[in-house]
Amino acid sequence: MQILFCASEVSPFAKTGGLADVTGSLPASLQKLGCDVRIFMPLYRGMRNGAGSMDLLARDIVVPVGVHDYHVYIWEGRTETGIPIYFLEKDEFYDRSYLYGSPVRGDYEDNSERFIVFSRAVRQLCMALDWYPSIFHLHDWQAGLIAAYFQLNWRYDPNFLRSGTVFTIHNIAYQGLFPPEIFSLTQLPASAFSIAGLEFWGQCSFLKAGLVYSDFLTTVSPRYSREIQTPEFGFGLEGLLKERRDSLAGILNGIDTKVWDPENDPLIPANYSSEDLSGKKVCKSVLCKDLGFPRERLDRPLLGMIGRLATQKGFDLLEKILPELMSMDVNLVILGTGDASIEENLKETALLFPKQLKVLFEFDEKLAHLIEAGSDIFLMPSRYEPCGLNQMYSLRYCTIPVVHATGGLDDSVIDVIKDPDSGTGFKFYKYDPQAFLDAVESAIHMFGDKDKWVEIQKRAMAQDFSWDRSAREFIRVYEKTTAKRRIGVGRRADL
Ligand code: ADP
Repeated sequence: MQILFCASEVSPFAKTGGLADVTGSLPASLQKLGCDVRIFMPLYRGMRNGAGSMDLLARDIVVPVGVHDYHVYIWEGRTETGIPIYFLEKDEFYDRSYLYGSPVRGDYEDNSERFIVFSRAVRQLCMALDWYPSIFHLHDWQAGLIAAYFQLNWRYDPNFLRSGTVFTIHNIAYQGLFPPEIFSLTQLPASAFSIAGLEFWGQCSFLKAGLVYSDFLTTVSPRYSREIQTPEFGFGLEGLLKERRDSLAGILNGIDTKVWDPENDPLIPANYSSEDLSGKKVCKSVLCKDLGFPRERLDRPLLGMIGRLATQKGFDLLEKILPELMSMDVNLVILGTGDASIEENLKETALLFPKQLKVLFEFDEKLAHLIEAGSDIFLMPSRYEPCGLNQMYSLRYCTIPVVHATGGLDDSVIDVIKDPDSGTGFKFYKYDPQAFLDAVESAIHMFGDKDKWVEIQKRAMAQDFSWDRSAREFIRVYEKTTAKRRIGVGRRADL
């Protein structure tokens, strides 16, 4: 099975969120299972030096977008695990300070062109390699158009007769919506700008292109696959997803158990395992010292939170409970970047509790590891969460999560209160500040019972979130997709 991952971010080369963790680690597990996996992504600023040695694969390839012919280069490198990775170089589009837009000025105005070029270049990549994958595995809206090009143009190419497309929704809230004028830039057949195609309430939706034209859809947790078929979570696409439910699977993301491994993590000051948790204490004390929490507060529960500062992540609930939470005599550290208004509110509250609350507005991988290792309790009150990775990192680092029971959070955490013998974390079921506060309070209370706490910690650490299990599920999806193609019932055979 040959698989080409097409994604706008891949860890460690470029990352803004969980998508990069997935595209950075799933390919290695698929390779272990015998797949020929390769990856295609844009070459962003700073990657030329950071991406190891690269060879020029193809120069001066012409990619037409509207009336323009863009000349692009493709470079070939390898990931740390030896997976071929191809980088699309077009400095005019990708050599920028941010991946998709600046925090102050918002999304880049030419994001449509940037990802049309990326999508159209996929075919040229295959031609340059003389390699035609059985599966194009497309990720999020930035790769959505590839499904449309494949279905409406490329599949008539004899080289692609046996190929199929799988599209993974990492977060349906991000849809790649553009004004209708940009449709002509895509150079897709006019029929594609319709309700049965990528048109979404008069606009062009690159995400919808992926959902409509891919042979098979997956999303990142079983519960989220059901949630997105409802108006509450579907962001207007619930009808389409319901219609496609027979070709939709929820596969829980795995985590990179080499990068996130308390026993061997080089980014934390002391390692630990479920047999010997003493290193965790060292991590807590270093973290508290680094953050400037007073020494005498070391035995207080330390709560951690890491994530994009976005309403999705439940900062509205957190802000409402912060004064009461602080009155419980805990310490809290928050690491995140994103929405300026959330940052402002947190900054203001932090001034009121200088000894207990530290907020850091940066993207810092090392600090993220230290927070996971050094905290006692991890907060993830997300309003919705397709999968979420930090709760799984937390479980592995025996930092007991408190989560809203939604999406992947619900699928990966077992509620201690409901299931005391197998619980791994604390859940709240109604998205409301009091429910969140109650769950945090239960966790803090349990933290006081050292024996029970260690039991929960050990159970948490024993959970298996490795990619191997999910990778096997993906292979089943790939097989279904190619079988569908072989018998000629590919997506939109009905168009
Ligand atoms: P999402 O993809 O919605 O942002 P996930 O929980 O799936 O959320 O993945 C977020 C990833 O990004 C995790 O690996 C998390 O540790 C990381 N991350 C988020 N914000 C930061 C930050 N400020 N510094 C370091 N890592 C971060």
